[in-house]
Amino acid sequence: MSKNVVVVAESRNGNLRNVSFEVLTAAQTIANGGHVTAVVFGEASEEQVQQLAQHGADTVQIAEHADLASYSTDGYTQAFTQIINSIQPDAILIGHTATGRDYAPRVAARLNLGLISDCTAVAVEGDDVVFTRPIYAGKLFQTRKVTSGTIFATIRPNNIEITEPNTARTANVVKTSVDVTNIRTVIQNVVRKTSGAIDLTEAKIIVSGGRGVKSAEGFAPVRELAEVLGAAVGASRAACDAGYCDYSMQVGQTGKVVTPDLYIACGISGAVQHLAGMSNSKIIIAINKDPEAPIFKVADYGIVGDLFEVLPLLAEEFRKV
Ligand code: FAD
Repeated sequence: MSKNVVVVAESRNGNLRNVSFEVLTAAQTIANGGHVTAVVFGEASEEQVQQLAQHGADTVQIAEHADLASYSTDGYTQAFTQIINSIQPDAILIGHTATGRDYAPRVAARLNLGLISDCTAVAVEGDDVVFTRPIYAGKLFQTRKVTSGTIFATIRPNNIEITEPNTARTANVVKTSVDVTNIRTVIQNVVRKTSGAIDLTEAKIIVSGGRGVKSAEGFAPVRELAEVLGAAVGASRAACDAGYCDYSMQVGQTGKVVTPDLYIACGISGAVQHLAGMSNSKIIIAINKDPEAPIFKVADYGIVGDLFEVLPLLAEEFRKV
């Protein structure tokens, strides 16, 4: 049965985030030949509309309001609730990003809908749409489906393989003015701590350092290998707590959840709270001088050794490739 699906296209620094194309790919699976609308808050460039169309949007609906130029919980919640009420879709998908996980439950509550959050896969089985999501900090996966009413789910970034863009596709553009009032928080200034760095949640390769790096300076070989590999730099909470690096780099249960193709854990023991953020990485390499470190239980490849000796050697070898 074909369905009418709405997704949210998310941008950062004027560029559409990969998760926008991932939700569009999932939307096409669910729509099953039906209609897919990509909602953009604030404004969308011609290039963005084209990209969304090529990745599966039939309509690009722009929610216009000056106060939607930057994210606010109140603004997005109000605007998206109005859009969903006007479209009345069969299914809604949002990226499980810092913003998506903030406003999705609020929209669900306002619309009296259930929400299946943090999904890593979507499949259509007969008339059912079945979502897979991790539970117990990633130790198990469960499947969930909505049995009545509108399907509403958030999709974890970096899990759904984006379909090739179809350059022949175009989309209708619909501009809707939304009523946004009483926004209680306003972004006055954005301080980019990781300017120029690769976004951890969308990175294909991550090199992370733990307490084993021993100091802020000890992060240098981690950063060096990351640079050679074109990777993002992550960290364990112990490394952040010790002041070796910024909390924006923390991976884990109370940090960022990442699913790169390759995760290299350096001087990280593999506590369950760290594993909750990275154990779904496609390939895990652990470098630790303790052969009994729990990280080796989840690692595909392990190097028992001193990270200060191993990392420069790896960087040197990868530089040759
Ligand atoms: P350690 O456990 O101290 O491990 C350091 C490792 O480095 C050791 O295995 C050691 O053998 C190795 N090592 C030392 N020197 C070298 C060297 N020269 N070369 C190679 N290896 C070396 N943690 C997170 O990471 N993310 C979270 O989001 C998170 N959330 C938490 C939430 C709660 C509620 C709680 C209670 C804890 C949370 N933690 C989190 C903390 C977690 O329990 C661990 O304390 C933390 O992950 C340990 O970090 P680590 O592996 O860097 O440090």
